[in-house]
Amino acid sequence: MCTKARFPSRALALQRMIEIQTKGEVREKNPVRVYYCSECGGYHLTSAAMDKRKKNKILKRKAAAVIRIAEDWLRRKGWKIE
Ligand SMILES: [Zn+2]
Repeated sequence: MCTKARFPSRALALQRMIEIQTKGEVREKNPVRVYYCSECGGYHLTSAAMDKRKKNKILKRKAAAVIRIAEDWLRRKGWKIE
């Protein structure tokens, strides 16, 4: 029996996969591929576990991006950090 989320078409499965990926959430598992399941005749997403190092790297990159945006705003507004 299939217990995973089942999608009636490849397009719907892909759509969901892109949705999860573009949310930019840092999750333990990220869907990376869509495959056809002969058991239920539907489509499933396969996930790849993210290792800690990769996860930390993404978190650091996100933090850096937030700082960049903040600095950009400070420049634009002419604010100074004491
Ligand atoms: Zn299935």
